[in-house]
Amino acid sequence: MSHTPSRRTVLRGLTVTGAAVIGFAPATRTWATTATADGTDLVGIPPLDGTLNTDEASLAAASDDFGHIVHRRPVAVLRPGSVRDVVTMVRFCNEHRLPVAPRGQGHATQGQAQVSGGLVIETAPLTRIGPLGPHSTTVTVGAGIRWSDLAKATIAHGLTPPVFTDYLELSVGGTLSVGGIGGQTHRHGAQVDNVTELQVVTGAGEFVRCSRSRRPDLFHAVLAGLGQCAVIVAATVRLVRAPRTVRHYLLPYDDLDTFLEDQRTLVREGRFDYVEGQVSADPEGEFRVHTLEAVAYGPPAGPAPDDAVLLRGLRHDPSGVQIADLSYYDFLDRLAPSVAALKEAGLWDWAHPWLNLLLPGRSTGALVSRMLDDLTPADLGPGVVLVYPIRRDRLTTPLLRAPDDATPYLFAALRTTPPDDTATVDRLLAANRSAYELAASAGGTQYPVGSIPFTRADWRTHFGPAWPRLARARRTYDPRGILVPGQGIF
Ligand SMILES: Cc1cc2nc3c(=O)[nH]c(=O)nc-3n(C[C@H](O)[C@H](O)[C@H](O)COP(=O)(O)OP(=O)(O)OC[C@H]3O[C@@H](n4cnc5c(N)ncnc54)[C@H](O)[C@@H]3O)c2cc1C
Repeated sequence: MSHTPSRRTVLRGLTVTGAAVIGFAPATRTWATTATADGTDLVGIPPLDGTLNTDEASLAAASDDFGHIVHRRPVAVLRPGSVRDVVTMVRFCNEHRLPVAPRGQGHATQGQAQVSGGLVIETAPLTRIGPLGPHSTTVTVGAGIRWSDLAKATIAHGLTPPVFTDYLELSVGGTLSVGGIGGQTHRHGAQVDNVTELQVVTGAGEFVRCSRSRRPDLFHAVLAGLGQCAVIVAATVRLVRAPRTVRHYLLPYDDLDTFLEDQRTLVREGRFDYVEGQVSADPEGEFRVHTLEAVAYGPPAGPAPDDAVLLRGLRHDPSGVQIADLSYYDFLDRLAPSVAALKEAGLWDWAHPWLNLLLPGRSTGALVSRMLDDLTPADLGPGVVLVYPIRRDRLTTPLLRAPDDATPYLFAALRTTPPDDTATVDRLLAANRSAYELAASAGGTQYPVGSIPFTRADWRTHFGPAWPRLARARRTYDPRGILVPGQGIF
């Protein structure tokens, strides 16, 4: 059920004849509702272009995410009809000290976009794409657009954002809130490093444009800022030339150290446009099947790929090499068939107690080896283990915390397990915590898209030297601390 809100003013006590009432009860700082026979009337909510939804389906969807581990129920879900709606509702919530969380595609794994007794703002309707032509160097898009739609729109003009996450059905606002790391990060940084301007609504309900030169404190507090200072409503993203086709390589390695060293060589040289890698279990259940994934872009983004040049000096097992030429979009969307199969099998709806870390390159071999020793195929389920290097000198966003090392590695154990087996989920969360502590003791950080139990003190440690600036921005831009409590930072 959705409603067009009424124009009545906020009621205290919230009893209106002939209608259910949703408003704010100042004494308790909670929302209050009264149901009556003839429908729902939203009292005290300013007029909106979109809808404020209180039906069971909307509330249930907003109380869940891809993790299926944490469930917090909001009181209402805003589907904004305009940016003005976001301003209106954040102001309303700020005035009444109600918690608010923007939600893109809800692919967080631990309740990060959920909010108990507050407002969830679905950004999905904010999908406008600004002017785009073959010579564009940037494009401004609504925060709710998915990377798949942005890729299709830009590729139509021979252009592309430089960096993609492995899965494209994530919102631009959602990945810019965390970082956005992919196989192109070693060349171009993370997605956050490729944004030139943001349009945001601060926690005080102020619409602001910010960039490196205009309100830079806000700009740097929002990119990879986990939603703590403002809701992103639009972003201006850098564009580069798109290849028409790419050559995709899968290179098998017998041992971890050689695999990691060759990955490091490739990202240092910039020989490929994309480098990632996976470790999977062999038939004995040991994680010792290493596959380096590398992609070279063809014209007009790069030269025609030459296998001999690209593979020179690499120490993979040549007998197991797989090479395929793909259209650029099919490469970007390469996970689509696996995702369809997981959905078909019902496994997409399993719990995802994901472990996502950034490890210092100097200790990656030892750390990954320890973590893989502790991992069983049963605990990974139909998930995967990703391991690949990035380059520290390509990361320019202060809040995207990465180890102090020239070549950190992303390590991700994307665990997938039945959601009703809560004992196993709890055990895997505890295992994530142990793995984090091991990584942190060597200078690693968490990449905050997964499910690692984290305290407020851990967050301070996580942000390290960036903490004072984030805390100051929070006090300035969200003085009542209403935004995104699900991250557990403040
Ligand atoms: C299958 C899968 C594959 C993935 N692959 C990668 C990958 O390759 N690389 C990578 O870096 N990450 C990856 N991720 C993680 C993903 O980038 C993050 O979980 C991301 O935040 C999800 O985007 P979303 O739109 O679903 O955000 P949501 O889950 O809706 O929100 C995530 C957080 O961001 C906040 N937020 C959302 N929108 C906004 C906004 N407009 N303004 C301010 N804050 C906002 C939310 O409040 C919440 O705290 C993957 C996740 C999944 C499920």
